[in-house]
Amino acid sequence: MSEVPTDAGQPYEYRRVPLVEPDWTRLPGWRDVTAAQWESAQWQRVNCVKNVRQLRAVLGDLVDDRFYADLETDQQNLATMSMLVPPQMLNTMVPHGAPEGQTYTDAFYADPVRRYMIPVASDRLADWPSHPHATRDSLHEHDMWVAEGLTHRYPTKVLAELLSTCPQYCGHCTRMDLVGNSTPAVSKLKLELKPVDRYDAHIAYLKAHPGVRDVVVSGGDVANVPWKQLEAYLMRLLEIETIRDVRLATKALMGLPQHWLQPDVVEGVERVARTARRRGVNLAIHTHVNHANSLTPIVAKAARTMLEVGVRDVRNQGVLMRGVNAQTHDLLDLCFALQGEAGILPYYFYMCDMIPHAEHWRVSVAHAQRLQHDIMGYLPGYATPRIVCDVPFVGKRWVHMVTEYDRENGISYWTKNYRTSIEAEESDALTKRYAYYDPIDTLPESGRRWWRKQAEEQNA
Ligand code: SF4
Repeated sequence: MSEVPTDAGQPYEYRRVPLVEPDWTRLPGWRDVTAAQWESAQWQRVNCVKNVRQLRAVLGDLVDDRFYADLETDQQNLATMSMLVPPQMLNTMVPHGAPEGQTYTDAFYADPVRRYMIPVASDRLADWPSHPHATRDSLHEHDMWVAEGLTHRYPTKVLAELLSTCPQYCGHCTRMDLVGNSTPAVSKLKLELKPVDRYDAHIAYLKAHPGVRDVVVSGGDVANVPWKQLEAYLMRLLEIETIRDVRLATKALMGLPQHWLQPDVVEGVERVARTARRRGVNLAIHTHVNHANSLTPIVAKAARTMLEVGVRDVRNQGVLMRGVNAQTHDLLDLCFALQGEAGILPYYFYMCDMIPHAEHWRVSVAHAQRLQHDIMGYLPGYATPRIVCDVPFVGKRWVHMVTEYDRENGISYWTKNYRTSIEAEESDALTKRYAYYDPIDTLPESGRRWWRKQAEEQNA
């Protein structure tokens, strides 16, 4: 909802908030963990929480059995991503204990980072847990592969998925089709080529297509590519004269900042950044932070270290989600923490994509438009993020670019100005309208009735 004040004063009051590393020894399983262990990337990886038993070993009796049962139900029936939560991220949930008057379990249920990293069955919507138009590969990235893991969707840029794993798995992952381990609800697509052959195929395609100038090097998360392999791939990219932008996608800059602070990684990034600068290529890191609580001093240190060794920019691409950050105050708190405390540019917020079992996270286009309106004017213009809808077969559109919008049934229509790699022969690709759908539970009763009728007719 728009947060228009009913009385005098500004809708949002900025106050500088210093970053704080929550004390991990408050959690029963980490009472004896030292600062040296905490700062070790290896300790963080080994101690990631991968299942209910391991979560219980960390949180113990702080959280009631009902939560663990709720999580088990979700894991067995609904989760599209397997569990993988680095200690760094778990430590930012209920960071300073339960507020007065609330049990720890209730605070844990309500926690914004928990809501997307450790989803439970009771979070999901009972009616319409998935939109009827939800699909596994909702952005059709796999359909647009021009080599294994290389998606050519926009004319001048490609997405290079080097691998299909991350140091952390987010419940809402848009690449749930490919990324992570299979879950009881979703068996994942597998990359088949050996990494070395996959990378050769990417480089060959880029050399053969000089119209592509921008490569988003992603996955998964590049923090899971052994550094030597990643450096070799990046150096090969930088040798291609036509490549002018290289962006490294890593949520681990926030989820496992210890990785990016390892001396061999820092030295390697410095070598790559120096080469990029000499060749006039813009090298940037794109990370993925969804809530201000995730920004701690060690995250800021990792981001600033990357800037110090010559990365031109560290930018944030968050995902807009109900219960996590889809309110004006939460977004502005996050953006001020990114921009003012961590040296990370608030760049985009994506609307959560139409994947299965994600309706409880998604917001309507109208809600996203209101948020965009309400965050304007507070941050420096260049650091005011754009809220974008990634429309299937179209790509990112600013939320106010909608061409037509049926609010009653929650269907918005969008146009585009380029062909994706699978539309070379489609004569109407640039004139037709492409649909995007609001979550049904946010519609007026007449709209919800319309969708029920559609479903009944389809099942008849
Ligand atoms: S880090 Fe990115 S790719 Fe990995 S699970 Fe999260 S959203 Fe998906």
